[in-house]
Amino acid sequence: MTEHTSVLIIGSGPSGLTAAIYAARAQLNPIVIEGEPSSTTDQPGGQLMLTTDVENYPGFPDAITGPELMIKMRDQAIRFGADLRVTKVQKLDASSRPFRAWLTGDAEPSITSDTVILATGARSLMMNVPGEERLLSHGLSTCATCDGFFFRGQAIAVVGGGDSAMEEALFLTRFASSVTIVHRRDSLRASKIMQERALKNERIRFAWNTQVTEVLGQDKVAGLAVCDTVTGEERVLDVTGVFVAIGHIPNTNLVTNQVDLEENGYVRTGLGSYTNIDGLFAAGDVQDHVYRQAVTSAGSGCIAAIDAERWLEAMGQ
Ligand code: NAP
Repeated sequence: MTEHTSVLIIGSGPSGLTAAIYAARAQLNPIVIEGEPSSTTDQPGGQLMLTTDVENYPGFPDAITGPELMIKMRDQAIRFGADLRVTKVQKLDASSRPFRAWLTGDAEPSITSDTVILATGARSLMMNVPGEERLLSHGLSTCATCDGFFFRGQAIAVVGGGDSAMEEALFLTRFASSVTIVHRRDSLRASKIMQERALKNERIRFAWNTQVTEVLGQDKVAGLAVCDTVTGEERVLDVTGVFVAIGHIPNTNLVTNQVDLEENGYVRTGLGSYTNIDGLFAAGDVQDHVYRQAVTSAGSGCIAAIDAERWLEAMGQ
Protein backbone atom coordinates (compact mmCIF):
# COMPACT_ATOMS: atom_id res chain seq x y z
CA MET A 1 0.00 0.00 0.00
CA THR A 2 1.28 3.46 -0.86
CA GLU A 3 1.74 5.82 2.06
CA HIS A 4 1.98 9.58 1.87
CA THR A 5 4.27 12.00 3.69
CA SER A 6 5.02 15.69 3.46
CA VAL A 7 8.81 15.28 3.69
CA LEU A 8 10.79 12.33 2.41
CA ILE A 9 14.48 12.43 3.27
CA ILE A 10 16.75 10.11 1.33
CA GLY A 11 20.06 9.49 3.09
CA SER A 12 21.17 9.37 6.71
CA GLY A 13 24.56 11.07 6.86
CA PRO A 14 24.88 14.35 8.78
CA SER A 15 22.78 16.23 6.19
CA GLY A 16 19.91 13.73 6.09
CA LEU A 17 19.72 13.33 9.87
CA THR A 18 20.00 17.06 10.56
CA ALA A 19 17.21 17.63 8.04
CA ALA A 20 15.24 14.94 9.89
CA ILE A 21 15.76 16.64 13.28
CA TYR A 22 14.60 19.99 11.92
CA ALA A 23 11.69 18.61 9.91
CA ALA A 24 10.53 16.48 12.85
CA ARG A 25 10.71 19.42 15.25
CA ALA A 26 8.61 21.38 12.73
CA GLN A 27 6.06 18.55 13.08
CA LEU A 28 6.33 17.53 9.46
CA ASN A 29 6.64 13.81 10.35
CA PRO A 30 9.50 13.13 7.93
CA ILE A 31 10.24 9.66 6.66
CA VAL A 32 13.98 9.01 6.38
CA ILE A 33 15.22 6.27 4.11
CA GLU A 34 18.57 5.48 5.65
CA GLY A 35 20.19 3.12 3.16
CA GLU A 36 21.27 -0.45 3.75
CA PRO A 37 24.11 -1.78 5.92
CA SER A 38 25.23 -4.20 3.24
CA SER A 39 26.21 -1.41 0.92
CA THR A 40 29.51 0.49 1.15
CA THR A 41 28.17 3.38 -0.88
CA ASP A 42 24.86 4.20 0.73
CA GLN A 43 25.04 2.58 4.12
CA PRO A 44 23.15 4.20 7.00
CA GLY A 45 25.21 7.01 8.50
CA GLY A 46 27.17 7.70 5.33
CA GLN A 47 30.90 8.34 5.08
CA LEU A 48 31.33 9.04 8.81
CA MET A 49 30.68 5.36 9.46
CA LEU A 50 34.07 4.76 7.83
CA THR A 51 35.88 7.28 10.04
CA THR A 52 37.50 6.75 13.41
CA ASP A 53 37.83 9.80 15.69
CA VAL A 54 36.13 13.03 14.68
CA GLU A 55 37.88 15.91 16.43
CA ASN A 56 36.57 18.86 14.46
CA TYR A 57 32.84 18.52 15.00
CA PRO A 58 31.92 21.33 17.40
CA GLY A 59 30.62 20.26 20.77
CA PHE A 60 32.88 17.26 21.29
CA PRO A 61 36.10 18.61 22.82
CA ASP A 62 37.36 15.10 23.58
CA ALA A 63 36.52 13.84 20.07
CA ILE A 64 33.84 11.36 19.12
CA THR A 65 34.02 8.47 16.71
CA GLY A 66 32.23 8.85 13.39
CA PRO A 67 29.81 5.98 14.11
CA GLU A 68 29.05 7.34 17.61
CA LEU A 69 28.31 10.77 16.20
CA MET A 70 25.91 9.27 13.69
CA ILE A 71 24.15 7.21 16.39
CA LYS A 72 23.66 10.39 18.42
CA MET A 73 22.21 12.24 15.41
CA ARG A 74 19.98 9.28 14.68
CA ASP A 75 18.71 9.12 18.29
CA GLN A 76 18.05 12.85 18.21
CA ALA A 77 15.98 12.53 15.02
CA ILE A 78 13.99 9.63 16.49
CA ARG A 79 13.40 11.55 19.73
CA PHE A 80 11.48 14.18 17.79
CA GLY A 81 9.45 11.65 15.85
CA ALA A 82 11.30 11.15 12.56
CA ASP A 83 10.39 7.83 11.01
CA LEU A 84 13.70 6.17 10.11
CA ARG A 85 13.82 3.12 7.90
CA VAL A 86 16.80 0.94 7.09
CA THR A 87 16.14 0.32 3.43
CA LYS A 88 16.97 1.81 0.06
CA VAL A 89 15.01 3.88 -2.39
CA GLN A 90 15.14 1.82 -5.57
CA LYS A 91 13.57 4.42 -7.81
CA LEU A 92 12.41 8.01 -7.53
CA ASP A 93 10.04 9.72 -9.92
CA ALA A 94 10.40 13.48 -9.59
CA SER A 95 8.60 14.30 -12.83
CA SER A 96 5.37 15.31 -11.10
CA ARG A 97 4.08 15.96 -7.59
CA PRO A 98 3.56 14.30 -5.27
CA PHE A 99 6.94 12.70 -5.89
CA ARG A 100 6.92 8.92 -5.98
CA ALA A 101 9.46 6.60 -4.38
CA TRP A 102 9.79 2.86 -4.71
CA LEU A 103 11.40 0.80 -1.93
CA THR A 104 10.56 -2.49 -3.66
CA GLY A 105 10.15 -3.73 -7.19
CA ASP A 106 6.34 -3.37 -6.99
CA ALA A 107 4.46 -1.49 -9.68
CA GLU A 108 2.88 0.85 -7.14
CA PRO A 109 5.18 3.36 -5.39
CA SER A 110 5.84 2.67 -1.72
CA ILE A 111 5.75 6.35 -0.73
CA THR A 112 4.43 9.53 -2.23
CA SER A 113 5.73 12.81 -0.88
CA ASP A 114 5.09 16.54 -1.25
CA THR A 115 8.78 17.30 -0.86
CA VAL A 116 11.97 15.30 -1.12
CA ILE A 117 15.28 16.16 0.52
CA LEU A 118 17.99 14.38 -1.39
CA ALA A 119 20.87 13.72 1.02
CA THR A 120 22.47 10.72 -0.63
CA GLY A 121 26.04 11.97 -0.18
CA ALA A 122 29.11 11.13 -2.18
CA ARG A 123 31.68 8.42 -2.06
CA SER A 124 35.42 8.45 -2.45
CA LEU A 125 36.79 6.64 -5.43
CA MET A 126 38.94 3.79 -4.21
CA MET A 127 41.97 2.12 -5.77
CA ASN A 128 40.52 -1.40 -5.52
CA VAL A 129 43.81 -3.02 -4.56
CA PRO A 130 44.40 -5.74 -1.94
CA GLY A 131 44.55 -4.46 1.65
CA GLU A 132 42.70 -1.23 0.92
CA GLU A 133 39.31 -2.22 2.29
CA ARG A 134 40.78 -4.02 5.32
CA LEU A 135 42.94 -1.05 6.33
CA LEU A 136 40.39 1.70 5.75
CA SER A 137 40.34 3.68 9.03
CA HIS A 138 43.42 1.75 10.20
CA GLY A 139 46.04 3.95 8.62
CA LEU A 140 44.28 4.33 5.28
CA SER A 141 42.02 7.33 4.96
CA THR A 142 40.16 9.33 2.35
CA CYS A 143 40.07 12.60 4.30
CA ALA A 144 43.16 14.52 5.43
CA THR A 145 41.13 17.19 7.22
CA CYS A 146 39.45 14.45 9.26
CA ASP A 147 42.39 12.19 10.00
CA GLY A 148 45.65 14.09 9.33
CA PHE A 149 46.15 14.89 12.99
CA PHE A 150 46.58 11.20 13.83
CA PHE A 151 49.66 10.94 11.63
CA ARG A 152 51.96 13.28 13.52
CA GLY A 153 55.61 12.59 12.83
CA GLN A 154 54.85 9.72 10.45
CA ALA A 155 55.84 9.10 6.85
CA ILE A 156 52.73 9.00 4.72
CA ALA A 157 51.69 8.62 1.11
CA VAL A 158 48.98 10.47 -0.78
CA VAL A 159 47.69 8.73 -3.89
CA GLY A 160 46.49 10.85 -6.82
CA GLY A 161 47.61 13.68 -9.09
CA GLY A 162 44.64 16.06 -9.00
CA ASP A 163 43.80 19.10 -6.88
CA SER A 164 42.48 16.90 -4.07
CA ALA A 165 45.77 15.03 -3.80
CA MET A 166 47.77 18.29 -3.78
CA GLU A 167 45.46 19.81 -1.20
CA GLU A 168 45.58 16.74 1.02
CA ALA A 169 49.37 16.50 0.72
CA LEU A 170 49.88 20.17 1.55
CA PHE A 171 47.57 19.89 4.54
CA LEU A 172 49.32 16.75 5.75
CA THR A 173 52.75 18.41 5.80
CA ARG A 174 51.57 20.08 9.01
CA PHE A 175 51.65 16.74 10.77
CA ALA A 176 53.68 14.20 8.83
CA SER A 177 57.47 13.86 8.82
CA SER A 178 57.25 13.34 5.05
CA VAL A 179 54.53 13.13 2.44
CA THR A 180 55.02 11.18 -0.78
CA ILE A 181 52.58 11.87 -3.58
CA VAL A 182 52.15 8.65 -5.53
CA HIS A 183 50.96 9.38 -9.05
CA ARG A 184 50.46 6.95 -11.88
CA ARG A 185 51.75 9.34 -14.57
CA ASP A 186 54.68 11.75 -15.00
CA SER A 187 52.58 14.91 -14.97
CA LEU A 188 49.93 16.17 -12.63
CA ARG A 189 46.30 16.81 -13.38
CA ALA A 190 46.07 19.44 -10.64
CA SER A 191 45.75 23.16 -11.38
CA LYS A 192 49.04 24.99 -11.93
CA ILE A 193 48.86 26.89 -8.68
CA MET A 194 48.29 23.74 -6.61
CA GLN A 195 51.05 21.95 -8.51
CA GLU A 196 53.48 24.75 -7.77
CA ARG A 197 52.65 24.77 -4.10
CA ALA A 198 53.16 21.04 -3.81
CA LEU A 199 56.33 20.99 -5.94
CA LYS A 200 57.85 23.82 -3.89
CA ASN A 201 57.10 22.22 -0.54
CA GLU A 202 60.22 20.60 0.89
CA ARG A 203 58.27 18.05 2.86
CA ILE A 204 56.56 16.67 -0.22
CA ARG A 205 58.23 14.06 -2.43
CA PHE A 206 56.87 12.64 -5.64
CA ALA A 207 56.77 9.04 -6.79
CA TRP A 208 56.08 9.51 -10.52
CA ASN A 209 54.78 6.81 -12.85
CA THR A 210 53.90 4.80 -9.81
CA GLN A 211 50.88 2.57 -9.42
CA VAL A 212 49.85 1.18 -6.06
CA THR A 213 49.56 -2.60 -6.11
CA GLU A 214 48.82 -3.38 -2.45
CA VAL A 215 48.38 -1.71 0.90
CA LEU A 216 50.51 -3.71 3.33
CA GLY A 217 49.78 -4.50 6.97
CA GLN A 218 47.33 -6.66 8.88
CA ASP A 219 45.75 -4.39 11.55
CA LYS A 220 47.38 -1.12 10.49
CA VAL A 221 49.21 0.21 7.47
CA ALA A 222 52.81 -1.03 7.34
CA GLY A 223 53.81 0.03 3.83
CA LEU A 224 52.65 0.56 0.29
CA ALA A 225 53.58 -1.86 -2.46
CA VAL A 226 53.99 0.01 -5.74
CA CYS A 227 55.06 -0.68 -9.28
CA ASP A 228 56.84 1.62 -11.74
CA THR A 229 54.54 1.92 -14.75
CA VAL A 230 57.51 2.45 -17.11
CA THR A 231 60.12 -0.05 -15.92
CA GLY A 232 57.81 -2.50 -14.14
CA GLU A 233 60.07 -2.35 -11.07
CA GLU A 234 58.30 -3.23 -7.85
CA ARG A 235 59.17 -1.71 -4.48
CA VAL A 236 57.68 -0.94 -1.09
CA LEU A 237 57.23 2.60 0.19
CA ASP A 238 57.97 2.74 3.88
CA VAL A 239 54.88 4.59 5.09
CA THR A 240 52.47 4.13 8.00
CA GLY A 241 49.67 6.19 6.52
CA VAL A 242 47.99 6.30 3.13
CA PHE A 243 45.55 8.92 1.92
CA VAL A 244 43.58 8.02 -1.17
CA ALA A 245 42.69 11.20 -3.07
CA ILE A 246 41.70 10.03 -6.51
CA GLY A 247 38.36 11.79 -6.64
CA HIS A 248 34.80 11.55 -5.34
CA ILE A 249 31.54 10.73 -7.02
CA PRO A 250 28.21 12.04 -5.82
CA ASN A 251 25.47 9.45 -5.32
CA THR A 252 23.05 10.87 -7.88
CA ASN A 253 21.80 7.69 -9.51
CA LEU A 254 18.24 8.25 -8.21
CA VAL A 255 17.94 11.60 -9.94
CA THR A 256 20.04 11.17 -13.08
CA ASN A 257 18.16 12.65 -16.04
CA GLN A 258 15.66 14.26 -13.67
CA VAL A 259 17.51 17.03 -11.82
CA ASP A 260 20.00 19.59 -13.15
CA LEU A 261 23.53 18.52 -12.35
CA GLU A 262 26.75 20.53 -12.39
CA GLU A 263 29.31 19.61 -15.05
CA ASN A 264 31.16 17.54 -12.46
CA GLY A 265 28.04 15.50 -11.70
CA TYR A 266 26.99 17.12 -8.41
CA VAL A 267 23.39 18.25 -7.99
CA ARG A 268 23.06 21.91 -8.87
CA THR A 269 21.52 23.94 -6.07
CA GLY A 270 20.60 27.58 -6.27
CA LEU A 271 19.57 29.56 -3.24
CA GLY A 272 19.91 27.36 -0.15
CA SER A 273 19.02 23.80 -1.08
CA TYR A 274 16.68 24.53 -4.01
CA THR A 275 17.16 22.41 -7.11
CA ASN A 276 15.55 23.10 -10.48
CA ILE A 277 12.60 20.92 -9.46
CA ASP A 278 10.01 22.60 -7.29
CA GLY A 279 9.73 20.74 -3.98
CA LEU A 280 12.94 18.78 -4.42
CA PHE A 281 15.80 19.95 -2.22
CA ALA A 282 19.38 18.69 -2.04
CA ALA A 283 21.69 18.77 0.96
CA GLY A 284 25.15 17.62 1.93
CA ASP A 285 27.84 16.08 -0.22
CA VAL A 286 25.53 15.18 -3.11
CA GLN A 287 25.55 18.91 -3.92
CA ASP A 288 28.83 20.03 -2.33
CA HIS A 289 32.16 19.26 -3.96
CA VAL A 290 34.00 22.03 -2.18
CA TYR A 291 33.73 21.72 1.62
CA ARG A 292 32.65 18.12 2.24
CA GLN A 293 32.81 18.31 6.04
CA ALA A 294 30.45 16.71 8.55
CA VAL A 295 29.61 20.09 10.00
CA THR A 296 28.94 21.76 6.63
CA SER A 297 26.86 18.78 5.63
CA ALA A 298 24.81 19.05 8.82
CA GLY A 299 24.36 22.78 8.22
CA SER A 300 23.17 22.08 4.73
CA GLY A 301 20.62 19.55 6.04
CA CYS A 302 19.26 22.21 8.37
CA ILE A 303 18.93 24.59 5.41
CA ALA A 304 17.09 21.96 3.36
CA ALA A 305 14.58 21.24 6.16
CA ILE A 306 13.85 24.95 6.59
CA ASP A 307 13.55 25.38 2.82
CA ALA A 308 11.13 22.44 2.62
CA GLU A 309 9.08 23.72 5.55
CA ARG A 310 8.76 27.21 4.03
CA TRP A 311 8.00 25.77 0.61
CA LEU A 312 5.20 23.62 2.08
CA GLU A 313 3.86 26.63 3.92
CA ALA A 314 3.91 28.71 0.73
CA MET A 315 2.00 25.91 -1.00
CA GLY A 316 -0.62 26.15 1.74
CA GLN A 317 0.21 22.75 3.22
P1 NAP B 1 40.54 14.56 -10.33
O1 NAP B 1 40.87 15.93 -10.80
O2 NAP B 1 39.66 13.71 -11.15
O3 NAP B 1 41.94 13.81 -10.14
C1 NAP B 1 41.98 12.48 -9.77
C2 NAP B 1 43.44 12.04 -9.79
O4 NAP B 1 43.50 10.71 -9.32
C3 NAP B 1 44.06 12.07 -11.19
O5 NAP B 1 45.39 12.53 -11.11
C4 NAP B 1 44.00 10.60 -11.60
O6 NAP B 1 45.10 10.20 -12.39
C5 NAP B 1 44.13 9.89 -10.28
N1 NAP B 1 43.45 8.60 -10.31
C6 NAP B 1 42.16 8.33 -10.66
N2 NAP B 1 41.90 7.03 -10.52
C7 NAP B 1 43.04 6.46 -10.05
C8 NAP B 1 43.39 5.13 -9.69
N3 NAP B 1 42.51 4.12 -9.76
N4 NAP B 1 44.66 4.89 -9.25
C9 NAP B 1 45.54 5.92 -9.16
N5 NAP B 1 45.26 7.19 -9.47
C10 NAP B 1 44.03 7.45 -9.92
O7 NAP B 1 39.89 14.55 -8.86
P2 NAP B 1 40.11 15.57 -7.64
O8 NAP B 1 41.54 15.84 -7.44
O9 NAP B 1 39.31 15.02 -6.50
O10 NAP B 1 39.39 16.88 -8.14
C11 NAP B 1 38.01 16.86 -8.54
C12 NAP B 1 37.58 18.28 -8.90
O11 NAP B 1 37.55 19.08 -7.72
C13 NAP B 1 38.53 18.95 -9.86
O12 NAP B 1 37.79 19.77 -10.73
C14 NAP B 1 39.39 19.79 -8.97
O13 NAP B 1 39.95 20.93 -9.63
C15 NAP B 1 38.41 20.19 -7.88
N6 NAP B 1 39.12 20.43 -6.62
C16 NAP B 1 39.57 21.70 -6.40
C17 NAP B 1 40.30 21.98 -5.25
C18 NAP B 1 40.81 23.36 -5.02
O14 NAP B 1 40.70 24.18 -5.91
N7 NAP B 1 41.38 23.67 -3.88
C19 NAP B 1 40.56 20.98 -4.32
C20 NAP B 1 40.08 19.68 -4.58
C21 NAP B 1 39.37 19.43 -5.75
P3 NAP B 1 45.24 10.71 -13.90
O15 NAP B 1 45.70 12.12 -13.80
O16 NAP B 1 46.28 9.78 -14.48
O17 NAP B 1 43.89 10.55 -14.53
